[in-house]
Amino acid sequence: MSKQLTTKQPKLYIDYDRTLFDTDKFATALWGMFSEEAGKSIGDIEEMSKKAKIDPKFGGFDFDGLVSTLELKSQTMYTRLDSLLKSENFLIDGADQFIQLLLSSGYMPEILTFGQKGIQSAKIEVYLDKLTGDRPRTDLACHITDEPKTDFIRKQAGSAQGILMDDVAGQELPRGFVEINFAQNAKLEAVETNKSGFRVSTYPQALKAIRAVLDQLTAP
Ligand SMILES: [Mg+2]
Repeated sequence: MSKQLTTKQPKLYIDYDRTLFDTDKFATALWGMFSEEAGKSIGDIEEMSKKAKIDPKFGGFDFDGLVSTLELKSQTMYTRLDSLLKSENFLIDGADQFIQLLLSSGYMPEILTFGQKGIQSAKIEVYLDKLTGDRPRTDLACHITDEPKTDFIRKQAGSAQGILMDDVAGQELPRGFVEINFAQNAKLEAVETNKSGFRVSTYPQALKAIRAVLDQLTAP
């Protein structure tokens, strides 16, 4: 690939839920919070949360919808959400070092998350300083989209090439985009390749795959 053809810096989109953020651990705590506030069992809240989706096909937890179904006060729930996020570290172990390593390697990672603006921005905001370390928090761009990520990338990246690192595999990415599937529970010995790109289960493996793709895209 010649540099003349690649006029734009390659894009490096990184998903948030289950890629940087421990969504399952957080969900357990969140259902507890709703249960307390609404006086319902955790099981009931969990059931209701399954129905609270911003999109019938793509999912995305509808925090505002659940708050309203339970007739709770939005402001109270956002304040509690913020305290909950600050009460312990809900990032996946090593996520902060991973982002910092990407930044110090000269790459420009951007968080790309599907979901509702309010809850997603709260979940990211709390950890922006931790994720960026010594760098200004503005070095890590964040996009919250309520359309499929692939549509977002098609619109935003234009003719640029790049990577989507995501725990969801097999999304139909635009041409020139490579998938790095972060399969945390697969416990892979090494980076695997498949027809969409790469499959990894640790951050060091992801870093290796990202380097391989980006170095190739930007090679003179
Ligand atoms: Mg995810």
